[in-house]
Amino acid sequence: MMPPNCCHCDKGLETRDECELVCFRRTPEQEAWYAEAESRLIPDHPLNCEWFCEDHLEATRSLVELDLDQALARILKNSSPEFLQRNQQRDTQ
Ligand SMILES: [Zn+2]
Repeated sequence: MMPPNCCHCDKGLETRDECELVCFRRTPEQEAWYAEAESRLIPDHPLNCEWFCEDHLEATRSLVELDLDQALARILKNSSPEFLQRNQQRDTQ
């Protein structure tokens, strides 16, 4: 399991902000991963799930019908210019 840090900003363990795990629609690849994961003893971080802080949780909840990549792209598009600038190197979409 990944540490509970927002996948979209710096909030999380280090800033003592609580994050919530949000799971999105599974892609065919992720379905295959799930089929395999059932035989694993130690559960991995689910591929279609990410942590979100309370700032991003609201926007994210309406996007769970999308898959993770689509949802992240959508959140990024709706983000403030300051945010986009800060994340430019991480994601060019
Ligand atoms: Zn966040």
